[in-house]
Amino acid sequence: MAKNIQAIRGMHDVLPEQTACWQFVEQHVRDVLGAYGYKEIRLPIVEKTELFKRSIGEVTDIVEKEMYTFDDRNGESLTLRPEGTAGCVRACLEHGLLHNQIHRLWYYGQMFRYERPQKGRYRQFIQLGVETYGMADADIDAELIQLSHRLWQRLGISDTVELQLNSLGTIEERAVYREQLVEYFSVHKEQLDEDSQRRLLSNPLRILDTKNPDMQVLVEAAPKLMESLGAESKAHFKGLTDTLDTLGIAYTLNKRLVRGLDYYSKTVFEWVTTELGAQGTVCAGGRYDGLIEQLGGKPNHAVGFAMGMERILSLLENRKELANIKSIDAYMILVGEAAKKTGVVLAEKIRDSVPHIRLQMHCGSGSFKSQFKKADKSGADYALILADEEVSSNKVSIKFLRTDEEQRTISIAELIELLKK
Ligand code: ATP
Ligand code: MG
Repeated sequence: MAKNIQAIRGMHDVLPEQTACWQFVEQHVRDVLGAYGYKEIRLPIVEKTELFKRSIGEVTDIVEKEMYTFDDRNGESLTLRPEGTAGCVRACLEHGLLHNQIHRLWYYGQMFRYERPQKGRYRQFIQLGVETYGMADADIDAELIQLSHRLWQRLGISDTVELQLNSLGTIEERAVYREQLVEYFSVHKEQLDEDSQRRLLSNPLRILDTKNPDMQVLVEAAPKLMESLGAESKAHFKGLTDTLDTLGIAYTLNKRLVRGLDYYSKTVFEWVTTELGAQGTVCAGGRYDGLIEQLGGKPNHAVGFAMGMERILSLLENRKELANIKSIDAYMILVGEAAKKTGVVLAEKIRDSVPHIRLQMHCGSGSFKSQFKKADKSGADYALILADEEVSSNKVSIKFLRTDEEQRTISIAELIELLKK
């Protein structure tokens, strides 16, 4: 017998019993973004490799070791997108959306990174990305946090996530800080692990982000960028925290929070949870005023975030009501040839008359007993039963599958009224 082909390691199927939960989250995502006037943008999954090298940077984890890169049949190097920001800026530049305009955009879809698969870390995963362009003040930075906060509330997980904030200042301030940091770490070079030694010259800020427990004391004592920010950056950061204070959104300052990419400036933030072990960041973002210019556009303002949807879903796993989201309201049981003929018309009539009803009609043959079992298993609230007797009297029997209410036989009009409720 031929061997079964299996999915690629780190790339997962979402099975029918799990999709209800995904759809629940996706509906709230759309609603919340809509409530703030954000528009969806849909982007290709594959881009030229050059785009990611230029935007994310050659010396980042993503570009150095995580990208799915291949030559297409013309020998052009293409890459499955590891994140969405680069493609979004590319598209906006290409279509002239960044010229004297303001945009609030979002996208949702698969990203690909060749990482070691583990809980909360996959090779194909889904991100919600939100990107805004053309706004300099901290009110838009705050708005992104507000809307993510609203999403946590809607999903019922606001108690399990915490907001961490930092400011990376301007590119100039960071250049000065970078030198201080290199000097500090150079003095303690023997305490740096291999990764950090490599980053010392290529990307020293990223050393602050190390998860290596042996380096925590060293990193803790390193100079803090927050303390050497200029007046403008400080005022910008205060603008953000003032708004969060006004809204009662709690945060902690994390002076070690860095986004390792050169194009970040001023605000950086992460929503983190302690419930998912090492994969604790569920949403990460910040201001990236430098990127548009880096990709060939005129200097422009940009702030955004990306949310790891599998991690959000994991946080929801323990919520009982989600385990029981049903996808069918009524199941129609048809016994006998006459009932089959009448039933198919009746089912359409019910779908016409009862908005949003999810009605599944039994297809094929089967005894009443076996059909009834299927009705029960489907999770539906009602079984609608049509046999010879109902057909000849032009009625339907309704059995209440989840309550003690007595089964009864009623007219079609009564049935429709009942289902509408
Ligand atoms: P990490 O430190 O966990 O590797 P990152 O800095 O690489 O995160 P970002 O590029 O900022 O992550 O992506 C934003 C979010 O996307 C992360 O906070 C996380 O929730 C999610 N994410 C990133 N990589 C993965 C992955 N391989 N599998 C699942 N989710 C991921
Ligand atoms: Mg990563």
